[in-house]
Amino acid sequence: MPTLKFAVLPGDYIGPEVMSEALRVLAHVAKKEGLTLDYQHADVGGAGIDNHGKALPDSTLALCQQADAILFGSVGGPKWEKLPPKEQPERAALLPLRKAFNLFANIRPGLLYSDLTDASPLKTARIPNGIDIVCIRELTGGIYFGQPKTTTKLENGEEQAIDTMVYKTSEIERIAEVAAVTAKARGKKVCSVDKANVLETSVLWRRVVTAYFAKHHPEIALSHMYVDNAAMQLARDPNQFDVLFTENMFGDILSDEMAVICGSLGMLSSASLGTGKNSLGLPFGLFEPAGGTAPDIAGKGIANPCAQILSAAMMLRYSFGLDAVADKIEAAVRLAVATDGVRTGDIAFGKPAVGTKAMADAIIARL
Ligand code: NAD
Repeated sequence: MPTLKFAVLPGDYIGPEVMSEALRVLAHVAKKEGLTLDYQHADVGGAGIDNHGKALPDSTLALCQQADAILFGSVGGPKWEKLPPKEQPERAALLPLRKAFNLFANIRPGLLYSDLTDASPLKTARIPNGIDIVCIRELTGGIYFGQPKTTTKLENGEEQAIDTMVYKTSEIERIAEVAAVTAKARGKKVCSVDKANVLETSVLWRRVVTAYFAKHHPEIALSHMYVDNAAMQLARDPNQFDVLFTENMFGDILSDEMAVICGSLGMLSSASLGTGKNSLGLPFGLFEPAGGTAPDIAGKGIANPCAQILSAAMMLRYSFGLDAVADKIEAAVRLAVATDGVRTGDIAFGKPAVGTKAMADAIIARL
């Protein structure tokens, strides 16, 4: 019986609420599919600060190091907002986790069911069948990490700040590979986004990507787009894309634009894959909803658990190689929401809204 060993880091506010429903769905699936779940909870974010004095306690990191994957909720909120920026839950928990596991590839599906087009700020006529694309963001390089990164005082008394954008061939090739593998399981179409008309790093990016696809994935239709155009095209006709992939800062912005056109954050999952392999020889990854801790609705039992449940499905797919089981969870979410019309408040649009637990019950019923 395959054993799924993962660390559960629920985090703060709605994090634990949606995490317990995702675990209930996983328990149901495990029973049906003959899988053994082997997971332990650990504090992270604000819970880490409150209970251990830091956002990523050593014991939490140690638990993650022994696991094959991390199922993450979300961290942060008003309670810790007055802390210095470097100690804030998100920065002090997620960045070290990304660093510790070299989580270089963020995969965010942009999925909007055709029955939920009301949730999108785009006109339904532009997305009659909803949206189905994937955005892949390089997560450990580029301007967020490049050195030098300084603020200095000039002789004339002005302040000057410098960020440095750096990429090397190997970093570009490994994210290109993730985009190619993702596209192979979908429409075999990849659009690489850069700013090669202005930036040196983008000139290298475009050259390396072109050569990499020509050599390793000639069957995939590769195109290139400048980031300013990509931002427009996402709003104009998102389904022209299949897999969109780009460097860290462009991906930060485009993946959030994609999230907003797909409606509620409560529906969007994500995976961050590391360079390392887990004990099964598969990519170690951190799987989390695209949204945050939603303090405005926390404690009311009304948060949408779908993003967390879909993140658990991504964990089964990427870190445990259980594509068929992941497919079943994704199909059950779609059937519960789109076919059965079971909706939490964020996606109700005039329909009666159910709570977190009832939403998960509907998904379990479909499973
Ligand atoms: P947010 O994503 O928490 O909330 C934005 C809006 O989306 C809110 O109206 C919220 O109610 C709604 N929403 C989000 N998830 C939902 C769900 N599952 N069901 C229903 N509605 C949902 O963004 P924010 O308010 O800007 O941030 C709140 C806190 O979360 C901040 O402290 C921020 O730093 C943190 N945050 C953490 C992460 C992370 O852990 N990766 C990501 C983003 C924000």
